[in-house]
Amino acid sequence: MDGKKLYHGAAYYPELWDEKVIEEDIRYMKEAGINVIRIGEFAWAKMESIQDQINIDFFVQVIKRFHDEGIETIMCTPTPTPPIWISHDHPERMYVDSEGNTMSHGARQHICTNHPFFRERSLMIVEAIAKAVGKLPGVIGWQIDNEFKCHVSECMCQTCKELWHLWLKEKYKTIDQLNEAWGTEIWSEAYLEFEQVPQPVKTPFLHNASLITAYRQFSREKIVEFLESQVNIIREYSKAPITHNTGRSFDLDNELLFANLDFASFDAYPDSSQYTALLLQYDLFRTMKKGKPFWVMETSTSHNGYLAGHQKNHPTGFLEAEAVSGYAQGAQGFSYWLWRQQRTGCELSHGAVLSAWGKPTVGFKRVMDVSAAIKKMEPMMEETIPLQAEVAITFSDRARSFFLTEPLEGLNYNSLLQNWYDTVLDTGIHRDLIMEGGDLKGYKLLMTPYVPYLSDALRKKGEEFAKQGGIWIVGPMTGYRTEEHTVHRNAALGDLEKTAGVESLYWYPISQTNSVGKAFGTQAPLGHWATVFDPETSNATVIGTVRGGESDGSAFITEKVIGNGKIIMIGAEPIGDKGKLMLSRLIHHYAAETGVQVKTITSNGTIVIPRIAKDGRYRLECAVNMDGKGGVVTVQQIGKDALTGKTILPGQLSLEPYEYRFIKYDI
Ligand SMILES: [Zn+2]
Repeated sequence: MDGKKLYHGAAYYPELWDEKVIEEDIRYMKEAGINVIRIGEFAWAKMESIQDQINIDFFVQVIKRFHDEGIETIMCTPTPTPPIWISHDHPERMYVDSEGNTMSHGARQHICTNHPFFRERSLMIVEAIAKAVGKLPGVIGWQIDNEFKCHVSECMCQTCKELWHLWLKEKYKTIDQLNEAWGTEIWSEAYLEFEQVPQPVKTPFLHNASLITAYRQFSREKIVEFLESQVNIIREYSKAPITHNTGRSFDLDNELLFANLDFASFDAYPDSSQYTALLLQYDLFRTMKKGKPFWVMETSTSHNGYLAGHQKNHPTGFLEAEAVSGYAQGAQGFSYWLWRQQRTGCELSHGAVLSAWGKPTVGFKRVMDVSAAIKKMEPMMEETIPLQAEVAITFSDRARSFFLTEPLEGLNYNSLLQNWYDTVLDTGIHRDLIMEGGDLKGYKLLMTPYVPYLSDALRKKGEEFAKQGGIWIVGPMTGYRTEEHTVHRNAALGDLEKTAGVESLYWYPISQTNSVGKAFGTQAPLGHWATVFDPETSNATVIGTVRGGESDGSAFITEKVIGNGKIIMIGAEPIGDKGKLMLSRLIHHYAAETGVQVKTITSNGTIVIPRIAKDGRYRLECAVNMDGKGGVVTVQQIGKDALTGKTILPGQLSLEPYEYRFIKYDI
């Protein structure tokens, strides 16, 4: 993968088209500025239509031919769609859902990825592909499978049951220790041996929370094991970097998933109103493999679509804003799903670059716009790198797992985190999302909201971060569960209370109790589930007080000095517009206190992405209007338009809908 180049790609399925069409596609790709294709992900049947008759020649020829035309390839492994000879007449190999339904052949992900026969055949086809194409000059990268767990979650088949028992044995050693950890005396659950522990399949009511959450973890570890078995084979035959195109809402542990991959990539299909969801992912995947560019592996040129529905069409300018902001945020590749509209299958209505009948789609011109933007920005992206953020927000798929098991009032981790992110975004403070295990070097302010189980490791890391002068904001809804998804016995928030100098009174649903929080010169209703603190016994300064309701007079925001920094607890979340205002003031307050510098003033819906020259000579800011309403950026020092060379004076700089500007500031 050329480190200097920006890649502009599309998913391509040459196995579905004849020679004349492929020729036409190459011509159009060159016209549209597509320089990379992603192939092979659903082509197992083309490669091995009959068991043991493997032939990869077609793809070898495609890769060579496209390379000769200046178009590189990301080669995918075809394991999401195993051919009929694997599944036919073999219900024991199929995925089983939590209702006990066994999948039939069809769609994708219909097979159990833990079944030994499937695993064996997967590794055979992957090895054959890696051998055949691994050293071809056109192959610049690899993608393992496609969107693991996008259609399915935890499998409940017999194979998984046996593996589950082995996994439990490995984790708990003795059945007594499992019984103790899960508290199985309750409802006479106690097990006599591991083989008796059920999978979380249908019961008259609900399973033990510990069991459900553990099964999610088991499933997430198993899919990573499958991924890594493929990675190890590919590495024997190819030096090209390897990734997986993940998604935020799939049942995965992304931190674990990317641990042994070479670069991060994800698929995102925001409609134009969901642009902040896209920005969140840019800020997340930039740090997943820190210092290495990420890829947007799939996005639509105009709208997504399948048999049961579709999105609204992108307004003119949105795709370009999506791409420009992505590259500026640290993407090296921006790739569409898909090149040529599907003629058959279940995604007939999905947007593409070219129609099934060979004419440009409604998105084609927009792709040309992106190509033109890439030409302009490529030299600037080569000279600069994303500026290190000073503010980090913890991202945790494990936290998401806890919310899936126990949503309380129907809470969804992704939505909660998105709201939090949107508040931070609107402050104009440059930010990262980092995984639980992420390095805190370079950050001044860390926020850890919505992490029900706060590991000792993360608690100690946050404490150390504060001691060294950082400010750690903990909560809301952080720390109230143990690793085993049980309730702490020493305090509502376990050991976190001592660290943060608080003593909690209650943990309860504060929504709709007429409780109002007062802090930072404002007040707002309190929502979701709250841990309120005793102002008398807590060893921390009260910053926010609850008024009204059952816990009138208690504290919901506290501050404790620790070493050179502070730990801030948010026990209850201020909600609504007033809540957002309060949180915004809180973030500004602590960001200022800890010396956060990288902050821009813009109207909401317009962002500024800071980069810095590799030689440190200048700062480059990319201002983009993302909401399509136009916006204003307050320029604070004399700069220069990096595209036109014109001077930009301090003051208000207006942007048209979806317009972007690159501004250079001397250092
Ligand atoms: Zn299974």
